[in-house]
Amino acid sequence: MIIVLKPQATEAEAKRILAKIEQAGLKPLYMPGVERIVLGALGDERILQKLHLDSDPMVEEAKPILTKYKMVSREVQAHNSVVRIGNVAVGGDKFAVIAGPCSVESEQQLMSVADVVKGHGAVALRGGAYKPRTSPYDFQGMGVEGLKLLKKASEATGMPTVSEVMEVGQVDSLCEYIDCLQIGARNMQNYGLLKAVGETGKPVLLKRGLSATIEELLLAAEYIYDAGNPNIILCERGIRTYETATRNTLDLNAVAYIKQRSHLPVVVDPSHGTGVRELVIPMSRAAAAVGADGIIVESHLNPAEALSDGHQALTGDMFAQLMQELKPFVEAAGRTL
Ligand code: PEP
Ligand code: MN
Repeated sequence: MIIVLKPQATEAEAKRILAKIEQAGLKPLYMPGVERIVLGALGDERILQKLHLDSDPMVEEAKPILTKYKMVSREVQAHNSVVRIGNVAVGGDKFAVIAGPCSVESEQQLMSVADVVKGHGAVALRGGAYKPRTSPYDFQGMGVEGLKLLKKASEATGMPTVSEVMEVGQVDSLCEYIDCLQIGARNMQNYGLLKAVGETGKPVLLKRGLSATIEELLLAAEYIYDAGNPNIILCERGIRTYETATRNTLDLNAVAYIKQRSHLPVVVDPSHGTGVRELVIPMSRAAAAVGADGIIVESHLNPAEALSDGHQALTGDMFAQLMQELKPFVEAAGRTL
C-alpha cells in the first residue's frame, strides 16, 4: 500500500504511522518527497485493511500497489534507479556496453579481448568463471582462477567486472574478486541464491529465465530487493519459443514493458538472445532504440577456438563495427555512448 501524507504532516507524524505499520508485522517504507511525505506498507493485504490507515488525520490517500512486485515497481518509486558497477553508472544518460568472452579461458585470451573491447568503448568487462553448461562434458569454467584473472584484467584496464554466481557457496569469492554478480537464466528462480546476493549489497545483473514471464522476472528482482539490495540490473536475454532459427527469441517487448512498470535499469543480451553472431549488431541497435539502458555482449578474438558460445561471439572487428553502428541509435534514444 502507498500512503500519501497531507502536506502539513511532519517527520514525527510519519514516524508514528511507520511504527504502526511495523507493529502490525508489515514492512514500512519511508519516501520523503519534495512536496509531501509518502509511506509504503508491504505485506499481507488483509492486515493492511485492518489498520485503516486511510482514516488517519494525517493521511491524504492510501492506495493499494496493484502489481505483485512492489519495491521494484514504479508505483513505489517513479524515478529511474541508477545502479553503479564500480565507476560505471547503469540507468543514467550513458548507454552502458558490457563486453567480454562467454568464459574466461586463459590470461592471454582475457587480457587481449579486454584491451580490444575497452579500446572501442566498452565500459565493463564480462566473463564467466563458473559456467552453467547444458552438458556435464562441456567446459565448466576456470572457477576461482578465472575470477582472479578477471580482477587482474580489471586492474589493467580500469573496467569493472561482471561474472556469474551459480551457487550460494560461491557468493563470497565472487564478492572478493568481482564488481557485479550475474544471476544466470537457469538460476533466476533459485530463491536461496537470490536472497544470498541480496544480502551482499553488491550490484546484481539478473537475467530472465528461459521460460520466465516478465512478472516472474520482476518478482525474482523483488526477492533481491527485499533481502536489502536495491542494486539490481535486469537483463532480457531471450526466451524459449517454438522458433528454432535462432537460439532464443529476444523479447524486446519485455524491455519496453519493464521500463514502463519498473524503475530498475534494463540491459539486453543480444548474444544469448539470438545465438547468431551476425544478428548481434542489428539486435543491439534495436535494444538501444527500444530504450534499454545498455547491452551485454560476448566477444572473442578467436571465436573458432572458444571453449563456449563461439558461434555467437563478436570478433574484435565486429565489436568495433557494433560500437560505430550503435551510436546513432543510442543518440536517437536521447542518450550517449
Ligand atoms: C552467459 O552469460 O554466459 C550465460 C550463461 O547466460 P544465460 O544465463 O543468459 O544463459
Ligand atoms: Mn555465453
